[in-house]
Amino acid sequence: MNEFQVAIIGGGPAGYTAAECAGKAGLSVVLFEKKNVGGVCLNEGCIPTKTLLYSAKIFDYTKHGKQYGITVPESSFDLKQIVMRKAKVVRKLVLGIKARLKAENVTIVEGEAQILDAHHIQCKEETYSCENLVICTGSDTFVPPIPGVSEVDYWTHREALDNKEVPASLVIVGGGVIGMEFASFFSSLGVQVTIVEMLDKIIGPMDRELSAMLQAEYAKRGIRFLLSAKVVGISQDESGFTVSYENAEGSASVTAEKLLMSVGRRPVTTGFGLENLQLELNGRNIKVDEHMQSSVPGVYVCGDLNGVSLLAHTAVREAEVAIHHIIGQDDRMSYRAIPSVVYTNPEIAGVGLTEEEAEKKGIAHKVVKLPMAFSGRFVAENEGVNGVCKLVLAEDDTVLGAHILGNPASELIVLAGMAIEKGMKVNEWKQYVFPHPTVGEIFREF
Ligand SMILES: Cc1cc2nc3c(=O)[nH]c(=O)nc-3n(C[C@H](O)[C@H](O)[C@H](O)COP(=O)(O)OP(=O)(O)OC[C@H]3O[C@@H](n4cnc5c(N)ncnc54)[C@H](O)[C@@H]3O)c2cc1C
Repeated sequence: MNEFQVAIIGGGPAGYTAAECAGKAGLSVVLFEKKNVGGVCLNEGCIPTKTLLYSAKIFDYTKHGKQYGITVPESSFDLKQIVMRKAKVVRKLVLGIKARLKAENVTIVEGEAQILDAHHIQCKEETYSCENLVICTGSDTFVPPIPGVSEVDYWTHREALDNKEVPASLVIVGGGVIGMEFASFFSSLGVQVTIVEMLDKIIGPMDRELSAMLQAEYAKRGIRFLLSAKVVGISQDESGFTVSYENAEGSASVTAEKLLMSVGRRPVTTGFGLENLQLELNGRNIKVDEHMQSSVPGVYVCGDLNGVSLLAHTAVREAEVAIHHIIGQDDRMSYRAIPSVVYTNPEIAGVGLTEEEAEKKGIAHKVVKLPMAFSGRFVAENEGVNGVCKLVLAEDDTVLGAHILGNPASELIVLAGMAIEKGMKVNEWKQYVFPHPTVGEIFREF
C-alpha cells in the first residue's frame, strides 16, 4: 500500500517542485512535511519578507510623493495590519501549492520522516517504500556561539516577521541579504537601525561598488553601519541589548531595544536518519552530480540541504533536474547563472561573475557600466535616485556577469542570466525588440 515510485522529504520549494513535477510525469509520489507545506520560502522567508517590504515601500512613497507632485498630508502605518496581510498572503500561496499537489495526485504525509535506508522511510509508525528518494529538508538559522548569545532573548527572522510592536531601535548582527532586507523594512518604519558586520562590506558576495552605493543610500536614510566589526559579546538588561564588538580602532559596543541575529543559514543534516545513507561529502556540502544524484544511486539531494546555493530559485531548478533524471529526460544543473537579489529599495541584483571574482580567478575580462538614467522609464520613475548597470565581459564581449542597482533589478536580472547561460555576446541583445519604455532597455544601450 505504502509503495511509491518517488518519496520526497521536505515540502519547501525543492520538495513541492519535485512532487509536482514527478506527479505531472505520472509517477506515484509521497511527500513528507513536518511543519508547513511551502517550507521556509513561503512561510517564513522569501514571500513574507517581500510582503512586508512592499508595505514599507508604499509607506516610503507616501513620504516622498512630493517629488512626483503628489502630496500626502499625513501618512501612517499599522504594523499589526501589515503583519496580518503578510499572514494572508502566505496562507493563500500555501493553499495554492497544496491544490497544485492534489491535482497531480501527490500523497502528502504530515509528519517528521526518518530515513531507514535508500528505499524505506518511516513516518508516524508507518513505513513507506520508494524506488527513488529526493531529500529536500532545507536549512536553518545559524547562530554563532558568541559569548552571552544563548542567554538573551534575541530575534531570528521568525520573530522579526511576526513582531507587531515598533521598537525604537534595532541592532542587526549580520549585514547579508536577510539582515539588509530587515534593516530596510524597519528603517522605513522609523526604527533606528544599526548593522554590525564582520566583513568590510555589506551583502557579502555582491558587486563591491554597487554594495557600497547601496550602503551609502541607506546611511543617508539613517542606518548606522559598523563594518569590519567582530561581535565578541552580547548581553541583555532592562535597557535592551548590548552588542560588544572589536574593530581596527579597538573595542566598543552598541545598545538597542531589539536584537536580530542574521549571520547566515546552515543545512540541517541531522535528526532524520540521513547518516544511514552514508552519503559522500564534497567539503562541507553533500556531493551531488549534475543530475542532483548523490553518491547513492536513486537518492537525490536538492535545495538548501546540499549547501550549494541556499536560494529558493536554485532549489526549484535542482528539483526539476532531479525528477527529469528519474524519468530519463536529459537535463543538467548549471550554477553559472544563479541570480542573487536583495529586495531593498532600491533593489540590487547580480548574476554570474563579479569584477572581484574575475580578478581573483585570473579571468581576462573588461567592465562596462551605464547609469540607469540611460533608461527613460527609470528616469520617469526614480526621482533623485541613482542606479547603475554593470557588465563583466570576456575579451570577445561574451557576457560573464551583470550587476544592477536600481528598481526593478529583480525583474531585469533574468535577462542577463539567460545571456550568460546561452553564452551570448553583449551586442546580441540588440537583435531583440524590447518594449519601450522599459528599464530593461538598458541592456540594449551597451
Ligand atoms: C528571511 C528569509 C528570506 C529569504 N528570502 C529569500 C529570497 O528572497 N529569495 C530566495 O531565493 N531565497 C530566500 N530565502 C531562502 C529560501 O527560503 C530557501 O533557499 C528555500 O526555502 C530553500 O528551499 P528548500 O526546499 O531547500 O528548503 P526549505 O524551504 O527549508 O524547506 C524544507 C522543508 O523540509 C521540512 N522538513 C525538514 N526535515 C523534515 C523531515 N525529517 N520530515 C519532514 N519534513 C521535513 C521542513 O519543515 C521544511 O518545510 C530566504 C530565507 C529566509 C530565512
